[in-house]
Amino acid sequence: MRETRAGAPAHAHFRPSIVPRLAPLPETPDVVVVGAGAAGIAAARTLVGRGVSVAVLEARSRVGGRAFTTDLRGHAIDLGAHWLHAGPINPLVRLGLSRGEPLRRAPQDGHGWVGRRPARPEERRAAARAFDLADRAMTAGAAAPGPDRPASSALPASLGPWGGRVARVHGLVSGRPLEEVSLHDFPSMEYGDNFFMAGGYGGYLARLAHGLPVALDSPVEAIDWSGAGVRVTVAGGRCVSALAVIVTAPVMVLRASIAFAPALPTEVRSAIDGFRTGLYEHAVLHWPSSPFRGRDRLASIAGGRQSPPGLLARIDGTPFHYYELDYADAEAVDAARSGPDGVRRHVRAVLAHHFGAGRLHDLSIPAVSEWRHDPWSRGSWAVVPPGHAPARQRLQAPVGERIWFAGEALSRLQWGTAGGAYEEGARAADAVAGRIRPGTG
Ligand SMILES: Cc1cc2nc3c(=O)[nH]c(=O)nc-3n(C[C@H](O)[C@H](O)[C@H](O)COP(=O)(O)OP(=O)(O)OC[C@H]3O[C@@H](n4cnc5c(N)ncnc54)[C@H](O)[C@@H]3O)c2cc1C
Repeated sequence: MRETRAGAPAHAHFRPSIVPRLAPLPETPDVVVVGAGAAGIAAARTLVGRGVSVAVLEARSRVGGRAFTTDLRGHAIDLGAHWLHAGPINPLVRLGLSRGEPLRRAPQDGHGWVGRRPARPEERRAAARAFDLADRAMTAGAAAPGPDRPASSALPASLGPWGGRVARVHGLVSGRPLEEVSLHDFPSMEYGDNFFMAGGYGGYLARLAHGLPVALDSPVEAIDWSGAGVRVTVAGGRCVSALAVIVTAPVMVLRASIAFAPALPTEVRSAIDGFRTGLYEHAVLHWPSSPFRGRDRLASIAGGRQSPPGLLARIDGTPFHYYELDYADAEAVDAARSGPDGVRRHVRAVLAHHFGAGRLHDLSIPAVSEWRHDPWSRGSWAVVPPGHAPARQRLQAPVGERIWFAGEALSRLQWGTAGGAYEEGARAADAVAGRIRPGTG
């Protein structure tokens, strides 16, 4: 699948639902933070909290990165991150609860649908058993000694007719088919005890950015670390000097569009270059007469010639649903090549197959995300292929005591998530503050 193209991605035309008031940059910051997504916001908040002066340079005209909430027909809808995963270890859940943010727990139950009818109780039980078996096998496989291998190789043959569905769903949430995902890296995230945020995940991050010194529309092109500190160059030639830099641009962007002088050490460059691009895109459905009732329920739709690998129904009790695109499916990939309208036609065809064309009389698809075509993300998250699992940890070590990396790609336990990115941003900022202001922790 072609992963970038010229022109603004479809989701970039939407306006953010919350626009924080940002502070001007200090004239002589101690630290530059590249990017104002979850990791950059965490880094900036941590540094400000420790009395370290910081300048955040953000390429886009908004904060939040891949967490982006817009208003659609009077509702706040996320076009990127939506789930606050791994409640017990997600710092954004902890922080949200302490701030009195409107968090709600995700329901544990969901809908089942097979072909053209609701799933029978025995089918639901068989599916649950297959997912459970697969989880246990992959967790055991990851812990077993020996060389890394594809996560798919750990799936037991005994999954029966649900095996294909299990592999598809895990491939979807991994961002690549399991054949391309490291088994050693795979089961590191705790999916249980998820939350949602009323007003959207992107809206929450925008609130957290309130008052931070962020310059928008400031894409960083080059980082010179040949001297004692760093000189960070923004498109148009503006230069900001500092003692250290925290780089939170996605690794897919680092591979393509930020130049380092001198070049990064080989092991750091190989860590960055070895990640694969994760693909995960929402088609946002507005579907008042959808057969699925109840707020925030996942619908598992199986059987038939084609089925969506993921569908979240009635987001926050509204008529909005997410239909997740399957980039392991040749027809979906083909449809996505023709842009958002191709995706819309594909989604309608699949839903008509399961629910009948009549049921779609009030279906509209107001938004289709295209993070893979967005120059500031170039994909949905970073995926570790077999053999590349040490890369996350490798990137956590500073380069020359003045370049730190942070972001979702570095998180071992919460990979690919905004919570993991936030934790990594705070970790890097603590390390930088400890280095340049010893004793302020
Ligand atoms: C469709 C979709 C659904 C998702 N669902 C979930 C979910 O439900 N739950 C979850 O936890 N995660 C989810 N994720 C993943 C989550 O969005 C990311 O893991 C997380 O937001 C990454 O945060 P980050 O700070 O590492 O990177 P980003 O959010 O990408 O932030 C990096 C920032 O750097 C900026 N930048 C890039 N290049 C430059 C440059 N050269 N100069 C200056 N600035 C630059 C970017 O504009 C961006 O603001 C989803 C992602 C997608 C795409």
